[in-house]
Amino acid sequence: MSLNTYKAKRDFGRTSEPAHSRARAGGEGLIYVIQKHRASRLHYDLRLEDGGVLKSWAIPKTPLNTGGIKRLAVQTEDHPLGYEDFEGTIPENQYGAGTVEIWDKGTYCALEATPAKIVVELSGRRLKGRFALIRIKARAGGEKNWLFFKLGPLRGNPRT
Ligand code: MN
Repeated sequence: MSLNTYKAKRDFGRTSEPAHSRARAGGEGLIYVIQKHRASRLHYDLRLEDGGVLKSWAIPKTPLNTGGIKRLAVQTEDHPLGYEDFEGTIPENQYGAGTVEIWDKGTYCALEATPAKIVVELSGRRLKGRFALIRIKARAGGEKNWLFFKLGPLRGNPRT
């Protein structure tokens, strides 16, 4: 888990984005946030706390709290803990120039995590329930592409 890529892309003398991960308070749940980012192209940045950073994916279309519709989610560089509170304007000529607003925020539990599949239970204001991130089979250069979508509720014991 490194923030080297995150730091290399930004000039912290110009952008007000955080340069370092904040300290973690004991007892808080794992952070989940989606930030609506009006950059050169509007997208939604999904971030999930993992190992002291926020794992991040850029979703070009509005995430949905209903099942059945899969959204492309392109994995991006890890972001520092604390970025979940960032809102504001990234200045022109800076990486990600545009406005950022918190679109959804809450906590999550990891139900499954492999290199190719992550299942989480989201507790946000907009997105609630089980969601999957599935890595799309890599063609050349495509290894950052995932699908993000809502799963149905867990069924009871199928034998009863
Ligand atoms: Mn973004």
